[in-house]
Amino acid sequence: MDLQRSPLLEVKGNIEPKRPLIKAPSRLPLSGSRLKRRPDQMEDGLEPEKKRTRGLGATTKITTSHPRVPSLTTVPQTQGQTTAQKVSKKTGPRCSTAIATGLKNQKPVSAVPVQKSGRGKKPSKRPAWDLKGQLCDLNAELKQCRERTQTLDQENQQLQDQLRDAQQQAKALGTERRTLEGHLAKVQAQAEQGQQELKNLRACVLELEERLSTQEGLVQELQKKQVELQEERRGLTSQLEEKERRLQTSEAALSSSQAEVASLQQETVAQAALLTEREERLHGLEMERRRLHNQLQELKGNIRVFCRVRPVLPGEPTPPPGLLLFPSGPGGPSDPPTRLSLFRSDERRGTLSGAPAPATRHDFSFDRVFPPGSGQDEVFEEIAMLVQSALDGYPVCIFAYGQTGSGKTFTMEGGPGGDPQLEGLIPRALRHLFSVAQELSGQGWTYSFVASYVEIYNETVRDLLATGTRKGQGGECEIRRAGPGSEELTVTNARYVPVSCEKEVEALLHLAHQNRAVARTAQNERSSRSHSVFQLQISGEHSSRGLQCGAPLSLVDLAGSERLDPGLALGPGERERLRETQAINSSLSTLGLVIMALSNKESHVPYRNSKLTYLLQNSLGGSAKMLMFVNISPLEENVSESLNSLRFASKVNQCVIGTAQANRK
Ligand code: ADP
Ligand code: MG
Repeated sequence: MDLQRSPLLEVKGNIEPKRPLIKAPSRLPLSGSRLKRRPDQMEDGLEPEKKRTRGLGATTKITTSHPRVPSLTTVPQTQGQTTAQKVSKKTGPRCSTAIATGLKNQKPVSAVPVQKSGRGKKPSKRPAWDLKGQLCDLNAELKQCRERTQTLDQENQQLQDQLRDAQQQAKALGTERRTLEGHLAKVQAQAEQGQQELKNLRACVLELEERLSTQEGLVQELQKKQVELQEERRGLTSQLEEKERRLQTSEAALSSSQAEVASLQQETVAQAALLTEREERLHGLEMERRRLHNQLQELKGNIRVFCRVRPVLPGEPTPPPGLLLFPSGPGGPSDPPTRLSLFRSDERRGTLSGAPAPATRHDFSFDRVFPPGSGQDEVFEEIAMLVQSALDGYPVCIFAYGQTGSGKTFTMEGGPGGDPQLEGLIPRALRHLFSVAQELSGQGWTYSFVASYVEIYNETVRDLLATGTRKGQGGECEIRRAGPGSEELTVTNARYVPVSCEKEVEALLHLAHQNRAVARTAQNERSSRSHSVFQLQISGEHSSRGLQCGAPLSLVDLAGSERLDPGLALGPGERERLRETQAINSSLSTLGLVIMALSNKESHVPYRNSKLTYLLQNSLGGSAKMLMFVNISPLEENVSESLNSLRFASKVNQCVIGTAQANRK
């Protein structure tokens, strides 16, 4: 505002500028403020006048009392013109012309009102005629102008100097600015780098903090664990101490035990010697037992005959009382019965005399007689000792002889329904053998058993243990020697099954039963027309003594011994039946003949006359023990057949086969 008021405009004219040039306050920014400006502002500020003043500092004041150039603050031209017009009015036409000329050559001037002469006196207007005066005035004015021009030149010079200085300063400042800009850029780059680093460091710090917290957690956990471990260690230490204490005690006990062991070892040696001696004695006793057992069996007879009468079955006619009698032995009723009396009335004799014929009494005596009420266990008890002889190495053969329906199969295999009470001799004998073999294993004996079961029908041999495709088929079986020069016989194509327990024997009996059922036809109850031979090959070994013994146990369910009624008409079925019967009769009579020959110690024993005797020859000869059950029906209608059976059995009973020798190797 002061600048606007300052008389920057130089006005040519008569007016003598008496007042000193007004110092215009520097428009240059203070050094402090200059630093605050942006570079672009700084540049702008320098143009045009400021460039001149740069570098002068805040205190530098530039005298611009007579600026030739328009000041920074310009006045609109209209204002300037108005002022000039005012001046020209005051200074007259000449002066106004000069001023106008000056104005024409100059740029618009500041809108500062033209000040009046410093003397404050308006030159008096010379009259037109006063040319001299006017000339004088003009000269004075000229002189004034010249002075003024001089002053202005000086000023100009000064300003130019200042300008140069300022330019130099500006240049220096420019350089400085560039340097500073460079610095700034560097600083900025550094700042950016720093910020980046800071960022990285912050991330790093965050990460480290995270790790720290994890580590702290870990440390806490470890501390906890450490505490636990310390606790555990304390526990273990106490345990260790306890164990050490115990160890010491144990060591003491051990040393005393060692002494005890030493004495026990001595004792053991003595005991072992005693044991060996006792074993020796036991073996001697066992051998003695076998010898005595055999002696007992021999005293009982190597051929024994037991008679068993089956009970009357439900639905059968009750026989007349006294048909069969079982007289007591010499020891009274407490003695087991050995005698049987059969009463038969001879109808033919009665017819001839015309009076009823008296019944004929037939007395028989056997090794044992089992009346109808005798149980399976009672029967087995009598033969258990005989069966055991097979384990001692003596061949044993048990037959069941009798007419069809007399109870042979019941005696050998057992009754129907799997009732254990009704179990027959075969399962009972095998169970007994297994248990005795088990007992003997304690004395060093090892036994093995191999079973076979065949059927001899019409002089053909058939395997009753056949399975698969051969099941129920009458496969071709032949009786052969086991090897050249061997005494042992074997049936070709027949199964020989190792057995070691009751279950296996049960399974074999069941299989044999099935095989028989397959072969059965309506007209031909084949099982009663054939011999069933169950054989068990027993092998015993005493490995430590190098002893071996082996013998066959044969359990034979013979075919029905009934004769064919000669009065019957012979149809095609009967003819077949006759052939069967002849075969049966032949084989049964051969059996009788073989027993007789053996009993009479004949040189020739007709084993080969039937398949049955041929197969059983090893169970019948010299060292063998034989038992025959004669099964009797209690019915009156069967009396005749019963008598035949009893007669056959009596003959056998009279036979004595020489002293049996155990099959020892
Ligand atoms: P076999 O074999 O001599 O032809 P079985 O053994 O088949 O005769 O016996 C004929 C019937 O008599 C069968 O039903 C059988 O159960 C029965 N039986 C045989 N002996 C006895 C006995 N001691 N006790 C009870 N029933 C018997
Ligand atoms: Mg039978």
